Amino acid sequence: MSIIRRIEAFELKLRLREPFRIAMGVSEYSHNIVVRIVDKEGNVGWGEGSPSLRVNRETVESNLSAIESVAPKLLGVDVFGIERVREILSRVEGNPSTKTAVETAVFDLIGKNTGRPVFKLLGGYRDYVITDITLGIKSPEDMARDAVRAVKRGFRILKVKLGTSPDEDIERVRLIREAVGDDIIIRVDANQGWKFDDAIRVLNKIADYNVELCEQPLPAGELEALAELRRLSPIPIMVDESVHGMLEALKVIEREAADYINIKLMKTGGIIEAMHLAYLAESVGIKCMIGCMGESLLGITMGVHFAQALKNIEFVDLDADLLLAESLVEKGGASIEKGGIRRAPSMPGLGIEALAENKLRLRLRKE
Ligand code: MG
Repeated sequence: MSIIRRIEAFELKLRLREPFRIAMGVSEYSHNIVVRIVDKEGNVGWGEGSPSLRVNRETVESNLSAIESVAPKLLGVDVFGIERVREILSRVEGNPSTKTAVETAVFDLIGKNTGRPVFKLLGGYRDYVITDITLGIKSPEDMARDAVRAVKRGFRILKVKLGTSPDEDIERVRLIREAVGDDIIIRVDANQGWKFDDAIRVLNKIADYNVELCEQPLPAGELEALAELRRLSPIPIMVDESVHGMLEALKVIEREAADYINIKLMKTGGIIEAMHLAYLAESVGIKCMIGCMGESLLGITMGVHFAQALKNIEFVDLDADLLLAESLVEKGGASIEKGGIRRAPSMPGLGIEALAENKLRLRLRKE
């Protein structure tokens, strides 16, 4: 038993190394929530949520009110009754990041109470994963320079943000491939930025530069167009913004609108939903990526545990913490090694050992 005795929620704002631009906008900070759950024995579980207004229609403030509404119902619940936790969280409307933050803290507690790392609890399939590193949108020349820098830092997979103008996007991929050579994997993400005809043109052109996959070429809701594009595209199509959880995945599967699905723990509204999404995709032969929003190393560590746990996670894009200028986690958390290798700690729970608690602003406490 591990009975929830106290729930706290914090606001966290961390500076990025440099402004990060994608087709849908620019950000300078990661503005997140952190949840701490303490059980009756004094064990502590941590979780993080990184709300996205554009993708999930949620904010730090809406996340905090969501926690406020469920915290009283979670007090006194045994975290081993994960289905009970899920039932309580399911009453929250929207705010998937809140649900994931709470479920993360719950799995951290289950791990600590059973002496097992979270990835062993969830499936324990592999011992490490290889992440890509994301290149935000800049001029083609500057992105080629960033690409070389990333390769020098040891990364072997580049995720190239596209989706401004078709000609510039083609130029971006061309210059990056020229700059990094043939041994580096390039995947691209248009973040809904293209129209159908542009997408066809860009995909046919950049196929010459050996692109592994293209994420979300068209607006999220355009599943028929995505299906048509997928039939014509020389490059496999991955959906991200089109799929939050299983309901949307079913629609994508029905229309054969994608080759791959990008699962993000901040979209699914919980770890369990994310697992089921991965299994659903596996059942129809769709391989998945695990992606991220603006999580710090705390949330990213949950992502690495998830990616190590499940067989159907073929692609890993867990790099948001590497784009930050400051760190919440002071000791522990997922490692980052040469080659983009990430490993979840083998200690019980998430493996977060020390946090810079002065960076956390307490917004809610219920006990
Ligand atoms: Mg994406």
